[in-house]
Amino acid sequence: MNRKQFFQRSFAGMAALAATASPFGFASCAAKKEKNNVPLNLSFQEGIAPGENLNEKLDFMEKLGIVGFEPNGRNLANRVKEIQDALKNRNIKVSAICAGFRGFILAEDPAVKAEFDTTMREIVAAAGELGSVGVIMVPAFNGQKPCLPHTMETREYLCEQLHELGEYALKCGTTVILEPLNRRECFYMRLVADGAAIARDAKSEGVKVMGDFWHMQEETSDYGAFWSAGTKYLQHVHIASRGRRIMPGEDGDLDNYVDGFRALKEMKYDKYVCFECGTKGDRNVTVPAAVELLRAQWEQA
Ligand code: MG
Repeated sequence: MNRKQFFQRSFAGMAALAATASPFGFASCAAKKEKNNVPLNLSFQEGIAPGENLNEKLDFMEKLGIVGFEPNGRNLANRVKEIQDALKNRNIKVSAICAGFRGFILAEDPAVKAEFDTTMREIVAAAGELGSVGVIMVPAFNGQKPCLPHTMETREYLCEQLHELGEYALKCGTTVILEPLNRRECFYMRLVADGAAIARDAKSEGVKVMGDFWHMQEETSDYGAFWSAGTKYLQHVHIASRGRRIMPGEDGDLDNYVDGFRALKEMKYDKYVCFECGTKGDRNVTVPAAVELLRAQWEQA
């Protein structure tokens, strides 16, 4: 080591020492502490918990400290009272509503589009009554045909239609949530950022996006994906094991959510992470194990 290198290294060492003792060092400690105060709000879809009926399922969820319930949107208008009654005096709220409409928004056939408009609006109204964070939708799956062609005009049309729907949802006290998938299921909305950009261009506070750890297979980073939506657009999260879409933990080491959780904690995400998955085992065993795993990874993030 020559004299110049010695001074360069000594200076770098001193600078590093100074940095740890500087106010920036304390600031990062404070940020870390704050990040660790963000609670993990877990939610279950209706099929997750074992139980013969809704009340038995909710009892099971309550024992595990689950705070959200995500029903399917099918027939929701007729279930509002049943769900309200079942949640009375419980520490569980309706999280999102999972689809359940008929038709699709990008249908070429006006009758199919009209069917979407009617059934989606019924579900959105019921979602508002239930205090839901929003109704999840995909504009068109690859297999839904005939579909409007994939052009700029179609994208503009989609944004206009979503604007109207978003404004309607706001009036009902809820939102519509776009769910990005992957290219096999929905080639034009396969990244969280794709959905967030459409939500932005819809120009309505009532249009949001979600991230589903199962569908997020094409993302280069879970952390980057959630931040691409950020607090402005991210309204919901789905979770499953990452190999076979079963209970988190059933696919072993593949089931790592720490990177994504880190983003959620940094953005102080205050909505739900909801189970959407099957299981290969006994739900009485695999469900509590999955909850424990997610809480440990959230702590670690
Ligand atoms: Mg999903």
